[in-house]
Amino acid sequence: MRELDVRRIAETIRELCIKANKQLPDDIEEKMCACCELEQNALGKSVMEDLVENFRVAKELDIPVCQDTGMAVVFIELGQDVHLTGGLLEDAVNEGVRRGYLDGLLRCSIVSDPLERVNTGDNTPAVLHLRMVEGDQVRIMVAPKGFGSENMSRLKMFTPAAGREDVIDFVLETVKLASSNPCPPMVVGVGIGGDFEWCAYLAKKALCRSCDTKNDNAFYARMEDELLERVNQLGIGPQGFGGDITALKVNIETYATHIAGLPVSVNIGCHVTRHCSAVL
Ligand code: SF4
Repeated sequence: MRELDVRRIAETIRELCIKANKQLPDDIEEKMCACCELEQNALGKSVMEDLVENFRVAKELDIPVCQDTGMAVVFIELGQDVHLTGGLLEDAVNEGVRRGYLDGLLRCSIVSDPLERVNTGDNTPAVLHLRMVEGDQVRIMVAPKGFGSENMSRLKMFTPAAGREDVIDFVLETVKLASSNPCPPMVVGVGIGGDFEWCAYLAKKALCRSCDTKNDNAFYARMEDELLERVNQLGIGPQGFGGDITALKVNIETYATHIAGLPVSVNIGCHVTRHCSAVL
């Protein structure tokens, strides 16, 4: 059994919070540059050029890519041959987020209670998704999530009578309703299956999957391509000013579900869909 002090996890999360907010993942940067070339609408193209310049300047000046530095969503895959020492994992996650946001001078956006709405002052608590996996390593991903895009996300419990076209219509309707609000071009994460909460988790996971990948299942990979094409045909365009590029990518994640249901969720990400990973 390998021993790992949770202080190393806190320190890693601190670094990931800062890096994720200042530097877009390579796949998003590359997609943004490629889509900038593809955009045919003059206004849309000029907006894309501004967005590309924005992330380049952020990297150069070592400042956040966006003023909304997000809620810290943390995914941990904990190898079951690891024995954590030195304290509670959840405390270490929040300590890492607290130090990352304060040391990195990142905007603190979290309120302690959803109705009383008093800012916690250090961007904690995080949202933690923990999975036990085989092995003796700990894989950590930090995905700061802005709420301009999070607020545009939706979930629907379909009946099993629904099919592929109904799912596609729901995704397109969600993107249309979102319009310019999530700062397009978007990344669209789609979760299909599971139960109510697992379906939403799948959509978030889909959002954090690299834009260079396709679903392993050929049926869903084709659906991702078709959805991207049809989302872009909506013409919302960069920042909602019209154009060919409304989304950079549509990613789908699926899971088994109940005979009586078909949950579908859409988690919208913006043009700064951020995530950063490390393995300990
Ligand atoms: S939706 Fe994204 S780009 Fe827009 S303000 Fe929020 S974090 Fe920033």
